[in-house]
Amino acid sequence: MPRWLRITLIVVALLLVAGGGGYYWYIGDGNPPGNLPAFALDMAAVRAKAEELPGGKASDVRAETVARFAFPAVASVAGDGWDSTPMAAFSYQLILPTDTIIIDSALTAAQGASLGAKIDDDAYARMDMALAAATQIVVTHEHSDHIGGILAFGDPAGLGKGLRLNKEQAESLPRYGLALPEALKDYSPIDYDDMLAIAPGVVLIRAPGHTPGSQMVFVKREDGRELLFIGDIGWTLRNVETGKGRPRLLAQFMLNEDRDAVFAELATLKALHAAEPDLLIVPGHDVAAIDALVASGAMAAQFRP
Ligand SMILES: [Zn+2]
Repeated sequence: MPRWLRITLIVVALLLVAGGGGYYWYIGDGNPPGNLPAFALDMAAVRAKAEELPGGKASDVRAETVARFAFPAVASVAGDGWDSTPMAAFSYQLILPTDTIIIDSALTAAQGASLGAKIDDDAYARMDMALAAATQIVVTHEHSDHIGGILAFGDPAGLGKGLRLNKEQAESLPRYGLALPEALKDYSPIDYDDMLAIAPGVVLIRAPGHTPGSQMVFVKREDGRELLFIGDIGWTLRNVETGKGRPRLLAQFMLNEDRDAVFAELATLKALHAAEPDLLIVPGHDVAAIDALVASGAMAAQFRP
């Protein structure tokens, strides 16, 4: 069991001793706080943006399951039970006629130790080769389990050409004990307000909250299917289905996230998911959700070399 999880369980036990009210406040309350300002997500504008750059869209979306771990369900959705849920750190590859884009880069064995993560060495090697060949590399956010493979890449200067971190991601790295490699000390990040088209059918959408640099990635495939990579706004699809978020204990004291902002985003995503079930939502760490996307053919397993 990872050290931080053991600490969490000890805190939980203390809260149980202190009384049920404390347990509910810190672990059991997954409901959105009242009077949240709404998170605006105009899908018509996102779809228009996806048509901004001319050219062929992604013919293939591929997933690598780089590291596996398990969390109790209650860590993802406050109020859920303590059953162990399979989780993973993923990397994704979009194959377009003129671009190969990587979304997220999972983590290294050293970075995964605190999660108790088991790295798939073959998957990591395929991801490493794909990073070297990518024309663009983006991350949903600046946490080590999403940017770790990029920061550990052997030839950072070579990677710099395609690396498209946003300004807030680059600036927030020290907050999470991370830094760009020395070879990228002059790296200049991208800067955008609400949305940015980076390739035909591929749009970055600002969504700060889990981290200052958090963003979603909308992908319209050539066959018309649409995916929305939401990073860690929700670790699991159940976050989106219920609109419930992580417990205060994790969100505020361990992740130090803007929990209200995350809940506002979840409320918007819950409504979107209900209104548009064909829009495929890709949560941050949900093995069952990614397996289902692969089974449906919306994604393929393993990167193309
Ligand atoms: Zn994550």
